[in-house]
Amino acid sequence: METPEQSIYMDYHATTPIDPQVLDAMTPYLTSHFGNASSTMHPFGWQAKEAVEKARLQVAELINCSPEEVVFTSGATESDNLAIKGIAYQYKDKGNHIITSTVEHHAVLDSCKVLENEGFEVTYLPVDGYGMVDPHAVEAAITDRTILISLIYANNEVGTINPISEIGEIAEQHGVIFHSDAVQGIGKIESDVDGLKVDLMSLTAHKMYGPKGIGALYIREKQPPIRLHPMIHGGGQERNIRPGTLNVPGIVGFGMACELSKAVMHEEDQRIASLRKRLYRGLSKQLGFIYLNGHPQKRLPGNLNISFEFVESESLLMGLKGIALSAGAACTSTSVEASYVLRAMGIEEELALTAIRFGLGRYNTEAEVDTVIDAVVKQVARLRELSPLYEMALRDRNQM
Ligand SMILES: *Cc1c(COP(=O)(O)O)cnc(C)c1O
Repeated sequence: METPEQSIYMDYHATTPIDPQVLDAMTPYLTSHFGNASSTMHPFGWQAKEAVEKARLQVAELINCSPEEVVFTSGATESDNLAIKGIAYQYKDKGNHIITSTVEHHAVLDSCKVLENEGFEVTYLPVDGYGMVDPHAVEAAITDRTILISLIYANNEVGTINPISEIGEIAEQHGVIFHSDAVQGIGKIESDVDGLKVDLMSLTAHKMYGPKGIGALYIREKQPPIRLHPMIHGGGQERNIRPGTLNVPGIVGFGMACELSKAVMHEEDQRIASLRKRLYRGLSKQLGFIYLNGHPQKRLPGNLNISFEFVESESLLMGLKGIALSAGAACTSTSVEASYVLRAMGIEEELALTAIRFGLGRYNTEAEVDTVIDAVVKQVARLRELSPLYEMALRDRNQM
């Protein structure tokens, strides 16, 4: 088996490596500085507490909020659950209606499903062919029973960026709380909570060069402050919104990851976007019958999602063993299912089963992109040679 070191990693939407500076910041808190941030009677505790508050400020500075508005969690799955269920239970006397979309992450969709089983009503808004939610459709779905709108900022499969600030404006006008799962966008594109006009926002460190198992929920404290029902109960940490001994090394790493992202964001995005364009150019120059999934411009700099017609993504990935990529499909134990995101965008099942997600990030190079282009072109050509459908399509095309 090839060791990971020999592979090219191009799956940055699934997770990212830790930046070496993040690891350096964390190391003391895994060794000598091991105190519990809630221990108030000795320097071990004070040191941990100080580190946590510094990190909270680093997170707050990236998203332009006050540190009190940042609640640390175990990651975005927990943040999404806390935001959605927390608001639903807190405001259930005001209403029982929630608006979301069909292309959300499972952490959002499954939280909504649980609430539906408990009597809440959920509207799953459709998306357009690019995977984008229409702000007018959001407005039309609001009723006097609506207590929450939850929409993804940038899609983790196709990279499409939703018009979050427009939707935030609508939510505000109607007095409805607005949550966004902003995992894929924060530290890469606009990350300012006032610019985005969100009331609640989910983040996670491991999608932005920080460690796994640590994330945050931004909760707006200003006019009017948002309250939510906690999901777990315990020792009072994080103002009782999310009790439990704080993951100090994780929090320190998360803080450093935010500080680094803020510093390099604009430069890095241009570099990554140009790698993505190089990849797309290289592939489309040499291959026919390929289709870009997601919005051509309003997309994450590092996301390229392409359907390679006549080539099942599973087979393609098997031919690309040294390259870490993701398919636009989920393999359950019994079968391969087309991505629900691509299906919601109106892409035929057959074509959806040929989608590959290229997720570019901080450590990718031009040389890697060129290697990936060559390898993909070679494998797609090889697999298409075996496809009678491809042969027929070629013949049809030549006759036209
Ligand atoms: C990765 C991801 C999550 C889950 O985050 P965890 O921290 O791994 O729980 C949620 N939403 C989106 C959009 C993601 O990409």
